[in-house]
Amino acid sequence: MKVHFWGTRGSLPASFSQNHVMQKIVRAIKASSGHRFDDDHAIFEFVDRLPFSIKGCFGSNTSCIEILGGDDYIICDAGTGLRDLGNEVIKQAVKKSHIFHIFISHLHWDHIQGFPFFLPAYMPDNTINIYGCHDYLEASFVTQQDFKNFPVPLKSMGSNISFTVLEPEKVYTIGGFNIKAFRQRHPGNSYGYRFEKDGKSIVYSTDSEHKGDVDNDRYPFLNFFKNADLLIFDAQYSFSEYILSKEDWGHSNNLIAVELSVRAGVKRLCIFHNEPTVEDAKLEEFLENTRRYLSLYAEHYPLCIDLAYDGLEIEI
Ligand SMILES: [Zn+2]
Ligand SMILES: [Zn+2]
Repeated sequence: MKVHFWGTRGSLPASFSQNHVMQKIVRAIKASSGHRFDDDHAIFEFVDRLPFSIKGCFGSNTSCIEILGGDDYIICDAGTGLRDLGNEVIKQAVKKSHIFHIFISHLHWDHIQGFPFFLPAYMPDNTINIYGCHDYLEASFVTQQDFKNFPVPLKSMGSNISFTVLEPEKVYTIGGFNIKAFRQRHPGNSYGYRFEKDGKSIVYSTDSEHKGDVDNDRYPFLNFFKNADLLIFDAQYSFSEYILSKEDWGHSNNLIAVELSVRAGVKRLCIFHNEPTVEDAKLEEFLENTRRYLSLYAEHYPLCIDLAYDGLEIEI
């Protein structure tokens, strides 16, 4: 099983300006001081060793991930990352018809705004099954493409689009995976999804605030995350930001991400729903602080921690 992250920002797409590029160039030139480069290959090797925040970019798109290894396309959320996914499907297409299963955490705009730009949805041979746990799942997609909001109504998109409201905590077999949804604390509720196949498990848990009886050994998320090979976890805020000003905003922080992962026996944690106003160097520092906290909280616990970026792939 493999996860491809197409969109990793929370709340809003993040801008990437000329100023951001210049900052990266300045840092790269500073880092190159004292080096001698005899050819392009040597330059490339040097650049490749630079920190990710200089040579790369955490990306701009809102929530969308793809889980590979099933029978069809398995997707979580339809943020702006879905547009890039769709374009890639069309570029690679060897088949004329595809089946997409899209699991929606909730209907906040950053989780559905990519759908009107998902080109495979305009192709008559494709089937798109959209799942969620809110009874207004279909109504939200219809409203998003109401003529007052978007020029093409949902019913004119051309593909065979269906909506299914799932029951939380019931196991469904879809696209070759056993899938279970779980209700999360978020304004209007959101739902996490646990995907299992061939003894491996991936949990997608975004837009979820952990508070209240979180220290209890029977805190229900411990079971939902239990022994997951990969936990994709909304930690939009640092612990201090959360405590100072973001409590009850519906998102969690990096320290609770580590604590719940360790307590639930998670093998790999990927922090997700990155704050759109935070620049790459700060996000990298946030990841380092999170890893440092693991060494304080559970020094010998073998948890691998990543911070999601657009284009990241994790194989389990
Ligand atoms: Zn969100
Ligand atoms: Zn939300």
